[in-house]
Order: sequence, then structure tokens, then C-alpha cells
Amino acid sequence: MTFRFDNSYARLPAHFHAPAAAAPARAPRLIRVNHPLARELGLDPAMLESADGIAILSGQTVAEGSQPIALAYAGHQFGNFVPQLGDGRAILLGEVIDTQGRRRDIQLKGAGRTFYSRSGDGNAALGPVLREYLVSETMAALGIPTTRALAAVLTGETIVRDAELPGAIITRVAASHIRVGTFQFFAAREDVDALRLLADHVIARHYPDASSADRPYRALLDAVIAAQARLVAQWLLIGFIHGVMNTDNVSVAGETIDYGPCAFMDEYDPATVFSSIDRAGRYAYGNQPRIAHWNLTRLAEAMLPLLADDSDPAIADAQDALAAFGPAFERAYHGGLRRKLGLASEEAGDIDLISELLTKMQQNQVDFTLFFRALGDAVAGDEEPARALFVDPTAYDEWAARWHARLSDTVGGEDRRAAMNAVNPAFIPRNHHVEAMIAAAVERDDFGPFEEMLAVLAHPYDDQPDYARYAQPPLAHERVAATFCGT
Ligand code: AMP
Ligand code: MG
Repeated sequence: MTFRFDNSYARLPAHFHAPAAAAPARAPRLIRVNHPLARELGLDPAMLESADGIAILSGQTVAEGSQPIALAYAGHQFGNFVPQLGDGRAILLGEVIDTQGRRRDIQLKGAGRTFYSRSGDGNAALGPVLREYLVSETMAALGIPTTRALAAVLTGETIVRDAELPGAIITRVAASHIRVGTFQFFAAREDVDALRLLADHVIARHYPDASSADRPYRALLDAVIAAQARLVAQWLLIGFIHGVMNTDNVSVAGETIDYGPCAFMDEYDPATVFSSIDRAGRYAYGNQPRIAHWNLTRLAEAMLPLLADDSDPAIADAQDALAAFGPAFERAYHGGLRRKLGLASEEAGDIDLISELLTKMQQNQVDFTLFFRALGDAVAGDEEPARALFVDPTAYDEWAARWHARLSDTVGGEDRRAAMNAVNPAFIPRNHHVEAMIAAAVERDDFGPFEEMLAVLAHPYDDQPDYARYAQPPLAHERVAATFCGT
């Protein structure tokens, strides 16, 4: 059994992409194949694990039907427009239709230089490959739209960053790799024909309902805005910080994409930043909704020529579409917080109750994940785990009195707890554990912690008492100050 490719993006005009060939890898070695995902794609995991499979996953042979290309895109990086970025270290092998009938991209990331590499080496270091694999698979297990990890291999090459590091390749699976920056690439060139082709491709592939709307391109913009609003709300609800929300790292399909210096927040603080390259806090946890809106504004700008022939009505139309972001985000965010608090219905005072909680959590350095999980114990009668997380436990008591009064609807304690535990994870990839996992692999060739964390985080909503240590926040000396892209 092999890939059944159907490469629709490669059939778009030549200036959408460039042919690509992977670099030689001295000694490719398999780290792992994601068996359930392989089967979802109609692939035999044993084939991928064979010598022939490893040759494909390391870019050493081109599978039958594959047309390896690197995609062109532009993007705003930390607010500055770069008219040409593109896949500098990623090669799209092709697209397959999975067992559910969905079209999925299969891409090698870290397979060497492409037409778009600029000064980069096209490589990926082992650490960032393992982080992307683990965090993207955890996001999927948490139920958050994301690209997936099909496989990871070592290339046997040494790459140079701050130190010499093992080179690796992740095989990434995505609904597509089309970004806000892809639209910007053609808008910057005033290539309206290409913009229209791209928009038609995205509608057919991701938002087929838009094709029957009165105004398909406006419907496409609306759909992308709605998808981003929901996505960023989901990030906030589990404490995720993307770290590099540049417009080239925003998928128009609404998946979380391009895991670089991403991390999960420990104690609740909207200003939390881990990324070493984000000194100004542009992409801080609590700034993510605002930045998503900023990124979508760049998409709307790029799409102006598709919205109307004249610029004034096009701008008015774009503004009208963008105005829906705030309400859509708040609906998703507040709805999610209600579920985290076990509130089955919607009442007027809920937003107040939520704001008071978040203020107190910040003032009391409360661990975000542990607290919401502990609220499940609180509805079942044990307040102690929740209140003990506050520097001043009486701050919890004051809030909890209001919360219990509000909970007086009909759902019973155990049912409510089960509903809450289904949205409040017990496990997230805590940064200090991720760093230790990477160190074990890079320094000692020990992939045990990677495998163990993957197994635990495949079931983030289950109590797994044997692995309780992975649920614990860092001790003072374990705290991770900064995460690095590793590019
Ligand atoms: P990122 O911040 O990883 O999303 O990458 C931003 C841009 O830089 C994209 O165009 C990447 O393809 C490119 N890039 C990142 N790392 C490398 C690398 N090691 N070699 C070549 N291009 C790279
Ligand atoms: Mg990127």
C-alpha cells in the first residue's frame, strides 16, 4: 500500500510554487510513525516504517505520484511586511484523500534548501521537530484544530545553530498549507487573477458552502474570520501560546500551524510570553485575540480586489466582515469558560463571575490547568485542591461562594464533574517537561521521555495517576524562561 496522491496545488500556475528536491541525508533513522494517523490517511504504518518508507520520510526517494514543491507566500513578521517568504525548509510531497474523504497535505519539514530558503539552510533541528510533533498531537487530542505529525526521522546530518545539533525531519499533515501570507503574496504583486484562483481553490477545498453564497469571496472572508475566532478562543481556553502569530503562520483553513517557540502557560497571567524572539510581548497569551484580528485585517486587505471593483465599497465590505470577529471570539471564549466552570446555561452575571475569577487567579499566581481541573473536585464536594492553589485561599472562598450559588441549576455533582473534566485537561505539555524530553533525546539519544509524554498526552482529559508528575507545574529551579524557534 502506498500514497494515492492527487496534487491539486501543484496544478495551480507555476508562480504559486517551485519544484523542490530534498537534500541528501547521510544516515536516515526512524524516530517514530504515527500509526492511527497513517491508517486515517489510508497508509500502512508498517510500509512507512520499512526501509522504503524511511527513504520517503527522509526525502531520499520520491514516492510514486508525488510532485515535490515548495509553496510561495509572503507575510508580516512581527508587524513588518516581507513580500517573499515561502517554504524555505518545507517540501510538499502532495495531497491524499483520507479515509473520511478529506484532502490532506503531506509535507516534509526540515528536508533541505528550496527556492525560498533565502539565507537559511533548509534544515530543522531535532528539538523543534520533537516539540512540534508532541504539541501538535496534543492539540489534536485536546480537540483543537491543528496540523498533525505523521512521522519524525533523524537525517544523520549535523546542523549548526548555537551548537551542533542532530538534524531531523517531521512529516506534517495539514488540511492545507495555505496561509494569510499566501493571499498577501499575490496582493503585493497586484496579481488579481492569481488571487482569484487562490480564493477559488480555498473555497473548493475548505469552505465549499461559500461557493453557493450570493458573494462567494465575501463568504470566504467571513468563514476564515469565524474559524480564526473559534481557534484563538480554543487556544486561550487551554492556556496555549502560539508564540509567532505572523501572517505567514496563520492557516486559512483554521488549523493551528507552525509550532515554533510555542508553550503552555503555567500560572494564569495574560502577559505570559515564552518566545525568546518576542521581547515586546506582541504575541503574549492575552494579546492573541487582538493579533488574530490584526492578521485577519491583513487578509481582508489582500482580498479587497475580490470584494468589489472600487476601493471604497471594498473597504466598507472588509470592515463589515472584520466587525464580526470580536463577537464571534467572545461567544466562543465565554461559552468555553462557562463549560469550564460547569455552567450548563447562560445567565447575565456570568461574564462578571468569570472576570472576577480571572483577576483573582492572576493576583494569586494560580496554575491555570490545575485550577480548572480542581473545580471538578469542588463540584463533587472537595474544595481544598482548588483553594490551595491560591496564595490567599480566602480569595478563592469569596469567589467560590458566588460560583456555588450560580451552580444551583439541576445538573447533579457527578455529571457536572464529568462534563467539566471533558473540557478541563489534567495534562498539558508543560514546558519544563518538554525541555527535559528534548534534552534527553538530543544529549543522550534517549527517546523514552518523548514516547512516554506522547502516550500520556494522547489522553489529556483522563486522570492518569501513574503519570501525575507530568501534571505538576515547574518548581522554581525547573521554570523555563524562554523557548527558541531553533530555526
Ligand atoms: P517560521 O518562523 O519558522 O514560520 O519561518 C519563517 C520563514 O523563514 C519561512 O519562510 C520559513 O520557510 C523560513 N525559514 C525558517 N527556518 C528556515 C531555515 N532553517 N532554512 C530556510 N528557511 C527557513
Ligand atoms: Mg512559518
